[in-house]
Amino acid sequence: MQVLDRIDGFRKELDTARADGKAVGLVLTMGYLHDGHTSLIRRSAEECDLTAVTVFVNPLQFGANEDLDRYPRDVERDVAIAADAGAEIVFAPPVEEMYPTGPVLTSIHVADVSEGMEGAVRPGHFDGVATVVAKLFAIAGPCRAYFGEKDYQQLAVVRRMAADLSFPVDIVGCPIVREDDGLAMSSRNVFLSPEQRRAASVLYRALQAGATDLGRARQAMADTVAEEPLVQLDYAEVVETDNEYRLVIAARVGTTRLIDNLGVAK
Ligand code: AMP
Repeated sequence: MQVLDRIDGFRKELDTARADGKAVGLVLTMGYLHDGHTSLIRRSAEECDLTAVTVFVNPLQFGANEDLDRYPRDVERDVAIAADAGAEIVFAPPVEEMYPTGPVLTSIHVADVSEGMEGAVRPGHFDGVATVVAKLFAIAGPCRAYFGEKDYQQLAVVRRMAADLSFPVDIVGCPIVREDDGLAMSSRNVFLSPEQRRAASVLYRALQAGATDLGRARQAMADTVAEEPLVQLDYAEVVETDNEYRLVIAARVGTTRLIDNLGVAK
């Protein structure tokens, strides 16, 4: 396992791997790895010859009143978990390495798909995501990049950005990994008190209620969340695509924001 913190060194390692004929897999994370992240790393390790994991808490995608400062961090632990899941490289650059000139003057905005839902509740969030993902793709070069469906709208933004800008990156969407009670795994779950943690499983129950009552799914999801006083709904939406309905939900539990979604085949 190699742990790198400089852009040049990381780029060189991946260039060398490709020159040796290896297929490169990339897993972009903000660290504090859990089984959701390791499912992406394992899939990459299965499908590619070399897997690189990036760990970077990207300031550009946090709003002024969000949890950038308290976001959980433990790179040493992340390196051990990534190695165990089959990664060969962890790239964990400091903020000054990624954004050395201070304010970043270039921003990528993916219209339409970044609007509504998370885009409405977190203005500027997806510009920050698209910008850092484009930068990491530009650094990493041709590869397969694994993203979780957990961040459903983010996956749509990244897919569109990569297609529109012709990045030589195949985007692979991977299923959501859940705790036993259905709560989607998230680095932010560590913020929940035991009582809040129990309450948080209502998000998955709400998605299931919506899935069994598709005609009034938004109301069914809202009604289910309303039964849990510790959880405040931000939104419950249904997104229709060619082959499925995707139920999407976001809520706050105390000061912790949680998101989740569930696909229902047509
Ligand atoms: P994050 O560190 O939260 O930015 O997530 C990094 C990547 O892991 C993103 O592609 C997420 O969608 C994915 N991910 C996070 N949680 C899960 C989960 N519970 N199941 C599957 N993928 C996940």
